Amino acid sequence: MRLILLGAPGAGKGTIANLLVEEFSIPQISTGDILRSAVKQETDIGRKAGEYMKRGDLVPDSTIMGIMEERLQQPDCQKGFVLDGFPRTIPQARELKDLLLKLNIYLDMVVSLDVPREEIMKRLTSRRTCSNSDCQAIYNVISMPPKQEGICDICGSEIIQREDETETAISNRLKTYNEKTAPLIEYYRKEGNLFTVKALQSRTVFEEIVRKLGN
Ligand code: ADP
Ligand code: ZN
Repeated sequence: MRLILLGAPGAGKGTIANLLVEEFSIPQISTGDILRSAVKQETDIGRKAGEYMKRGDLVPDSTIMGIMEERLQQPDCQKGFVLDGFPRTIPQARELKDLLLKLNIYLDMVVSLDVPREEIMKRLTSRRTCSNSDCQAIYNVISMPPKQEGICDICGSEIIQREDETETAISNRLKTYNEKTAPLIEYYRKEGNLFTVKALQSRTVFEEIVRKLGN
């Protein structure tokens, strides 16, 4: 199974990717996770990417393509993959197309998660993350608060608002999404493998994707 998940920040790409990972035993490839781990480990890529990420700006396409070219050739991708947060720009989508041709990989579907803007804002500003980098559990002060305020249920560390999840960074991420990433929906519609789903409930979205794949 080879899928791309498209959607604004906060559309639920990560949650839906997790469900697909369990169902199909394929890896989730999140450029956001790969970059965050590079920042943490202070690799060359991490040092370059960190500044863009803090501001909620996109990391340059060439950096991302380098990461993905390597990642897609790792053995665990043989069975398939879910791409989460990549491609993010038209140039990335074009380069991905060439890369997949070169590697002889065929995409099954591009899923576009459609969520109203107010819902996105609400979800993002209420998100909190465990500060322990080995845990990174995610909470939501409205829909999924920790049992004890400010403390992670799993590891007891402090839970915090991610640096790119403050109001300013969020509006910048949404602006970037509308300008750079939203045009991908039209791009993949033309390519002919787009599937659009209203994304209010992750479980329902997951079921719709599975049903569509079975057709
Ligand atoms: P989001 O919740 O905004 O989808 P991600 O975890 O996917 O967050 O990404 C976090 C940050 O990493 C982005 O704001 C951006 O700076 C960078 N990033 C992730 N994927 C890409 C990509 N494909 N192209 C450029 N930048 C990326
Ligand atoms: Zn924790």
